[in-house]
Amino acid sequence: MKHLKGFPYKKALVVGLAKSGFAAADLLHTSGIDVKVNDLNADSTGEQAVKLAAAGIPLITGSHPFELLEDREVVIKNPGIPYENEMVMEALRRNIPVITEVELVTYLHDGPIIGITGSNGKTTTTTLVHRMLEEDRRNVRVAGNIGEVACEVARRTGPEDTMVIELSSFQLLGIDKLRLHTAVWLNIFDSHLDYHKTRDNYIEAKSRIMKNQLEEDSFIFNNDDSIVSTFREKSVAAAVPFTLEENGRGASADENHVYFDGEIVAERKKIVLVGEHNLQNCLAAVAACKSAGVTNEAIQAVLYSFQGVEHRLQYVEEKKKRYFYNDSKATNIRATRYALEAFENPVILLAGGLDRGNSFDGLAPYLKNVKHLVVFGETSAKLAEVAGQLDIPCTPVDSMEEAVARAYRNSKENDVILLSPACASWDQYRTFEERGNKFVEAVGNL
Ligand code: ADP
Repeated sequence: MKHLKGFPYKKALVVGLAKSGFAAADLLHTSGIDVKVNDLNADSTGEQAVKLAAAGIPLITGSHPFELLEDREVVIKNPGIPYENEMVMEALRRNIPVITEVELVTYLHDGPIIGITGSNGKTTTTTLVHRMLEEDRRNVRVAGNIGEVACEVARRTGPEDTMVIELSSFQLLGIDKLRLHTAVWLNIFDSHLDYHKTRDNYIEAKSRIMKNQLEEDSFIFNNDDSIVSTFREKSVAAAVPFTLEENGRGASADENHVYFDGEIVAERKKIVLVGEHNLQNCLAAVAACKSAGVTNEAIQAVLYSFQGVEHRLQYVEEKKKRYFYNDSKATNIRATRYALEAFENPVILLAGGLDRGNSFDGLAPYLKNVKHLVVFGETSAKLAEVAGQLDIPCTPVDSMEEAVARAYRNSKENDVILLSPACASWDQYRTFEERGNKFVEAVGNL
C-alpha cells in the first residue's frame, strides 16, 4: 500500500472519527505523520477505537480540548462536521488549514481523476461513468460518497488507474490542491442550506470542483442550469456543456438520439433509464466519457443495459407486461414528481410513509397518469384524501407484500407499477433501502 508523498504537514489532528476519519488517521500514521484523533461522540471501546489504540494513535473523545491544536499543522475534518464546530473554528482562528479526507488523494494517486458533484444525480452519474470506463477496458476505481473512502482507495491505485469520485459540497469545501482532470457539475438546487447558511456559500462550495483544473482538463457542466452554466466563463479547463436543448457542442439529445459534438453516440429508445433527470445524468456521463476518449460502443453498452442505481427509479423487472420500478429513495414530493413525469403509460403508484406534517396537494398535478394509488404508513390517510379529490381509486394496505399484490391485481398490460413513496421510510422500515428491498422481494414472489 502506498504512503502519502509530499504531504506538507508533519502533525495532524483528525476531527470526527467515523469511516473517513479512521481511514485518514490510519493513512497519516503509516505515512509517518504524527496524528491524533478527536471525536465528541465516538465509542472509546468500539472497533475503530481499539484499532487506533493498537496502532498507538491517541483518540480523545467526549470534548474538544483546544490544547490538542497547540502543535498541530493541519486538521482533517469529517465532511459532516460543520464549520461552526468549536474545534474547527478554533483551528481556523489559529490559521491551521482545515481539509477533508479527499484532499489526501492528491498525495497518493498519480492517475487521472474524474470528480462528480451536484445537488442531485451524483450517484447515478458516478455509476454510469464508472461502468462506461470499465466497459472501455480502463482500470477504474470508484470512491467517495459511493463505495469506499477516497483516500483508502487511492492507497491501492497505480498510475494507469482512473479514479471516479462522487463529491459532496461538504467534501469540496475541504480541498486545497486536489486536481480533477475531469470535473462534472450536474446542477444546483436549494438543498443543504442549513449547513452552508446561504445559497452563495453553497454555490461557492460546489464550484470548488474547478479549483485546480489546468488547461488540458475538462469541465463538464449543465448548460440548462442557469447558475451552473455561468461558470463556463470561469473555467480554465476546456468547458464541455451537456444540454437537453440543442444539438450543438458537447452532449445533447433529441427525440431519437444522443449526440456528442453533433455526432450520434446512441439511440434514445434503447436507453433503459427513464425520466428527464436521468437523461441529464446520461448526457453528463457521455460528455465526461467522450472527453476521456471512451468509445461509442462502450457508452452504448452501458446506456442500453443499466437499470439504474438501486432504489432510484430502478427498473426491477417485467411480469406479464407489467413494468416494476423501485424508487424507494424518493422520500419527498419532488422526487416522486420526477418519477411520475418519467412515464407515459398508466401508473399504479405505491406511496406513503413517515408523516412530517406536510400536505400532499403538491403531488396532485402529477397524478394525471396514475390510475390507482396504493397507500401505506403514517401518511396513508393524507394520500387517500388527495386521491379522493382527483377521483383516483385508492387502496390502503399494511404491508409491502399486500401493496404489491393489490397493485398487481388492479393492473393491466403495459401498466407501470411504481414504488415512489414521497415520504421517508422510518415509520415502518429502518431505511429506504430496506423498504426498496422489500418491494423487490415482493415483486419476485408474485
Ligand atoms: P445523489 O447521489 O446526488 O443524491 P442520486 O443519483 O442518488 O443523486 O439520485 C437521487 C434522487 O435525485 C433521484 O431518485 C431523483 O429523484 C433525483 N435526481 C437524480 N438525478 C437528478 C438530476 N439530474 N436532476 C434532478 N434530480 C435528480
